[in-house]
Amino acid sequence: MNKLLHSLINLTSERERQKIDGGLATALYESTGAIECALYRISMRSSGAWLERQAIAAGGVTTVTTPEQPAAAGALGDFPVLVACIDAHASQAFESLSENRLATWIPVWGESGARVTTCVRLVTPARPEQAMLDDVQGLLEVYQNFTRLLEDNEHDSLTGLLNRKTFDRRFSELVGTAVSTIQRPPDLQQAERRTGDSVTAHWLGVLDIDHFKKVNDQFGHVYGDEVLILLANILKASFRDQDRVYRFGGEEFVVLLRATTAADAKKSFERLRARVEAHEFPQIKQVTISLGFASITQETPVTILGHADQALYYAKGHGRNQVCFYDELAASGQIGSLVVHQDADFF
Ligand code: GH3
Ligand code: MG
Ligand code: MG
Repeated sequence: MNKLLHSLINLTSERERQKIDGGLATALYESTGAIECALYRISMRSSGAWLERQAIAAGGVTTVTTPEQPAAAGALGDFPVLVACIDAHASQAFESLSENRLATWIPVWGESGARVTTCVRLVTPARPEQAMLDDVQGLLEVYQNFTRLLEDNEHDSLTGLLNRKTFDRRFSELVGTAVSTIQRPPDLQQAERRTGDSVTAHWLGVLDIDHFKKVNDQFGHVYGDEVLILLANILKASFRDQDRVYRFGGEEFVVLLRATTAADAKKSFERLRARVEAHEFPQIKQVTISLGFASITQETPVTILGHADQALYYAKGHGRNQVCFYDELAASGQIGSLVVHQDADFF
């Protein structure tokens, strides 16, 4: 079978972005015979445009960026050949690296043709044939269409946040890998978690807008929807790149905080709560949220979500507009341990 067709079948059989990125780098590396093939994403940060490597294939090995292994990144301005290529709307640009190493930059233009979000760098001993570059371009367009489809499927259309379906999948994956980076006796871990010392863990926060029915009743659904969009923007701006925010449904959101201490998790959630309280929403003025969070242990996803939910409902029952920590409430006996039916039809 034609190599390109084979690559297409492999690429479109995946659903995970990291696997697709790795698959694309491997496919381009193998089908072009390049010395090295890397896939980059261009993202906007507060400091300007950044080029982040997503996957690289070289020496028969493909390495993919994961939350645990962040991307090699640099300011886009540090890649003048690529910048000039994008500015000129050119389909490729060549950069001599050494006597027998030539880099070919290939930007992938977005749907409107106005923006580049992805690009590829092939390193070859000599200038590649144009026919080969045309094939690469074709494969990149299929990759782009396919990943756009997947992205639509993973996001909520109102707020643009990741959706519930994506949460269910990613959360069960994360729970499978949720081991504290420092192994300590369990009782010591418990004590440290409470005092917020050095134990690093992942955290699940569930938040719900306070008295949101009143917003809809007094101002109408359109204003209610606007609050959801503005709140989603505050959420997106409040957490680190490796954390994840999801719209869980209605006016409930969940946040996954990766690898941080209890004290820092508490601080980030509290900062979010204060930001929302301080934000002036059009017409409605003030909106508040209640949030419950729990540590992601090796218990089942249903149990962990139950813990965060219990803390959220404790917050709702004790004045709203506050952040409650399950582990702390459970340790002090303020909430009982939750009995969960393991066969609950949840995931
Ligand atoms: P509480 O403080 O106890 O959370 O009170 P609440 O009024 O917020 O109660 P609850 O969380 O049960 O209410 C959820 C309301 O959110 C019900 C529904 O009208 C509204 N809602 C859910 N999804 C949407 C949506 O997509 N858009 C709008 N505008 N409203 C929504
Ligand atoms: Mg609710
Ligand atoms: Mg509510």
